Amino acid sequence: MSNVAAWEDDPRTAPGARPVNRPSPSVKQARLGLALRGAEPPPRVYRTGTSQFRYWNATDALARAIRFWAPLLPAEARWPAARTLGVDLDAGVDLNAYYDRLGLCFFHATVRGVTVYSGESPDVLCHELGHAVLDAVRPELWNAASIEAAAFHESFGDITAILSALQVESVRTAVLTDTGGRLSRASRISRLAEQLGWAVRQSHPDAVEPDCLRNAVNSFFYQRPETLPPMAPAAVLSSEPHSFCRVFTAAWLESLAGMVDLRGATPDVLASVAVDAGRLLVGAIARARIGTNYFAQVASNLAAADATLFSGAYRQVLQRAFVGRGILSMASASAVPRQARRAGGAVPASRAVVLPVVSVPIDGRLHGIRLRRLLVEAPLGPSRWTVTSAAPDLGAIEPVAPDVASRAFVEDLLRRGRVDLREVQRDTARRSRRGRATHAIVRHGRRLRLERRLFH
Ligand SMILES: [Zn+2]
Repeated sequence: MSNVAAWEDDPRTAPGARPVNRPSPSVKQARLGLALRGAEPPPRVYRTGTSQFRYWNATDALARAIRFWAPLLPAEARWPAARTLGVDLDAGVDLNAYYDRLGLCFFHATVRGVTVYSGESPDVLCHELGHAVLDAVRPELWNAASIEAAAFHESFGDITAILSALQVESVRTAVLTDTGGRLSRASRISRLAEQLGWAVRQSHPDAVEPDCLRNAVNSFFYQRPETLPPMAPAAVLSSEPHSFCRVFTAAWLESLAGMVDLRGATPDVLASVAVDAGRLLVGAIARARIGTNYFAQVASNLAAADATLFSGAYRQVLQRAFVGRGILSMASASAVPRQARRAGGAVPASRAVVLPVVSVPIDGRLHGIRLRRLLVEAPLGPSRWTVTSAAPDLGAIEPVAPDVASRAFVEDLLRRGRVDLREVQRDTARRSRRGRATHAIVRHGRRLRLERRLFH
């Protein structure tokens, strides 16, 4: 078999980082297959900076993420809207990347004389693929008008980047050496998208971390996202999904670190713990109620999945990590084993959920549109066995009502200019460009509905 050259996790992981040689990979498979745009260059070790290098580097990163997730997903998991997902490694000039249900799209931009391709970073490639994987398991999250659901999608992307990097033996060895075996310390896997972060920092210095795009090692404590501002510098938490997701990702990385501590910090243990962590996540996502406090729902189901899959072997480390971040209140964390017993037996296959459509009031005058109400898919309200997140001072906070969560979500999107309003704008002079819209307002007869177009 021939070798190709590829980055281990990001082109800018360390000063003078070099690509490594990898066996030539494939992303063609019957289920959950991918197809890169353009002709496949012969597999060979190409020089960095060439399109052939980028082709094989991307194939290697995506194949690694798919090989990790595919065996852990329910047998019926499929891409929701395409048989094969297209991958466009260079769709034009931008510092961004997105997943839109038909494929993954990456861009390039020249910053201070350096041309940065978002599709050259395994971190970014695997993050976008993570959106697709979660969409295959829980398509109901796509349109949920919920800040926590959208933020969890971003967190799952970052977690996918971390778990995929850990599939590379040289990365596992390097991370254990660099952190002294403590995965809860900042490392090349906790720092996501160092190169894209560098490029963004040149024009928006406070929009990203000082050494990467996002760092999974941070000190953020859970707050109700509805109480946070819609944007903030990277050092502060906001309700913007890429900002808010850092609370969950940090708790999750701490739980992974705790799992490694339990079993011994060697590269082989780290590989096997990564698989356990992936199984826990898939089990949790399959059962978690898409409630207004979705972080708490997933966290409590991680502990429930641990009870069924591993007889509670990781219970304490999961509790410590998610209670420590306030994602789970003390009361909810201690109630988890009882709930797991009630659910009984194996982790059930994920059942389709229909989210209720609610009508939220909005003031369209600001945006030059005549619009008073908008239909959205709302997250679910509290149930009989409601789990809660923690209040910053004492005790638990009750989950917000579905209409409050939905209104906060819509208002955030409008304030950040993330809604494509062209369908409802009569005045062409004021027509907004699609820009960075993630959502569109779509006419259904006399009703107007908010629909997601993509995840950035
Ligand atoms: Zn994303």
